[in-house]
Amino acid sequence: MKGMVHGKVALVTGGGSGIGKKTAELLAREGARVLVCDLDEEAGQETLHHIAEAGGDADFFRVDISDETETIAMVDRCLQRFGRLDCAVNNAGIAGPTGSLESMDLKDWNRVIAVNLTGVFLSMKHEIPRMREQGSGSIVNMSSGAGLIATPGLAGYCASKHGILGITRTAAVENARLGIRINAVCPGSIDTPMLRASMEKDPAVEKIVRGSMPIGRLGEAEEVAEAVVWLCSDRASLVTGLSMPVDGASVAR
Ligand code: NAP
Repeated sequence: MKGMVHGKVALVTGGGSGIGKKTAELLAREGARVLVCDLDEEAGQETLHHIAEAGGDADFFRVDISDETETIAMVDRCLQRFGRLDCAVNNAGIAGPTGSLESMDLKDWNRVIAVNLTGVFLSMKHEIPRMREQGSGSIVNMSSGAGLIATPGLAGYCASKHGILGITRTAAVENARLGIRINAVCPGSIDTPMLRASMEKDPAVEKIVRGSMPIGRLGEAEEVAEAVVWLCSDRASLVTGLSMPVDGASVAR
């Protein structure tokens, strides 16, 4: 049986770790050729290794998504290597330091917005024209439960993830008649290196995180990847402009 994204070409930012890594691996398993993009070259190469071991086809591109020249080069590399761009998963992100809004340094605010929000904007800015030329494409942006509700102690992160939903909806409407679907996924607390690092830094954060999932456990990166790959696939043909929680009922409370 053919995979869900058989014959498609996909790009995944933050593909070296956590949710991005599992998404890149699942896209490859479901038949896509994948450009794994990440700031961390060693981690990205490890994802490539896993994909190759499983018989998939992938390449790596080192990128800082907050830099426009680099995001342009990322999309160009995908076209040079694989000839097209069908699915873009704009997933890379950072948590930034925790603390009350008034204690946050402007430099930390600027960095979290630059990576999480401007990075998704720049990625879409350069992915959409390629998809328009093809007359088709699917973009999945990684927001968060923090894009839907308050996240005390993480004002910059929360603002960036709310912002992602705004630009996702706007771009979805702008491109609805052009064959391009644009959606966002809002994960709950997912067991990844990012979440583990936040929990290790602050026992109070660990307590909040562990209590945040009505389902009674943390989510796994693979569970988010399943939703992303479905949104990338033609099976989600009527779904665009969606903000999809994948969170064990966290924001439903
Ligand atoms: P992760 O394990 O830290 O993976 C993120 C990857 O993105 C890392 O390899 C990181 O590289 C890379 N990256 C960071 N800044 C980058 C940049 N400027 N350009 C390119 N790559 C960059 O994190 P994760 O938990 O899988 O999170 C993935 C996404 O899901 C993020 O957008 C996050 O906000 C979102 N999310 C996560 C959770 C959760 O509970 N884990 C919940 C909701 C939403 P470095 O290691 O070198 O920084």
